[in-house]
Amino acid sequence: MPSKWTLRFLGTGNAPGVPVHGCACEICRLATFNSELRREPCSALLTVDGQQILLDAGLPDLKQRFPDGSLHSILLTHYHPDHVQGLFPLRWGVGQTLPVYGPEDREGCGDLFKNHGILDFRSLQPFQGFELAGINVTPVPLVHSRKTLGYCFEQEGIKLAYLTDTVGLPRKTQTFLQSWRPDLMVLDCSFPPLDTQPKNHNDLKLALGIHADIMPKQTILTHIGHELDVWLNEHRTSLPLDVAVVRDKDRVELETLNGVVKISMVNQAFDAQQTVLF
Ligand SMILES: [Zn+2]
Ligand SMILES: [Zn+2]
Ligand SMILES: [Zn+2]
Repeated sequence: MPSKWTLRFLGTGNAPGVPVHGCACEICRLATFNSELRREPCSALLTVDGQQILLDAGLPDLKQRFPDGSLHSILLTHYHPDHVQGLFPLRWGVGQTLPVYGPEDREGCGDLFKNHGILDFRSLQPFQGFELAGINVTPVPLVHSRKTLGYCFEQEGIKLAYLTDTVGLPRKTQTFLQSWRPDLMVLDCSFPPLDTQPKNHNDLKLALGIHADIMPKQTILTHIGHELDVWLNEHRTSLPLDVAVVRDKDRVELETLNGVVKISMVNQAFDAQQTVLF
């Protein structure tokens, strides 16, 4: 059976989001009036064979977006507020229990573990693969200020790596990805090119270095900060063709046709334009 996956970018911003409260830079000023330039907390929805898996839970309105029973499960990269804050109201739902997978983290965020409500938290270990909605998932460790896992999804020849938040990659993760060779790599890139070593998140130099090192068919940058948006606005054509920056509501479709993985991107903000990438 040919497989078709959809990855919807629900949010593509870093922790402050875009616009940044109080910031007068040109992007933040424009984003105040133009909702297409705004960036919500970084998260995505992976749909495979009608099953929906939410990647990170930082959007504040999860209970409105996802009625009872509409999500198969939630995968958390880590327990920073911009990746879990939507769970605080969601947990008090009265619907079905919802599995929430994430790294083993004793504290989690706030009192989420102590008062978990309908959320069923389950810990994952690096490189211990498991099956989720018929997809093979391998958690891979990332480099961040608290324990963080990226996720490598595979089914019917389609390979997708979702890697945020991170600054660089641990050696073991780099080696795994080099031999696994994702079709699509979604990667943290919060900052424009910096003169100093970035902390906790990739700048564009590091992100492009990881892209060249792993060699996926396509890399998509997310967890974007306003300074990177300003830089991109001034350097519009400076990214390689196989590297793209997403906006909120963009989606990527992956499907196998005659054994070849086809990747296409649908840009919601600009006339739902579809670009076949590979
Ligand atoms: Zn983050
Ligand atoms: Zn700004
Ligand atoms: Zn973080």
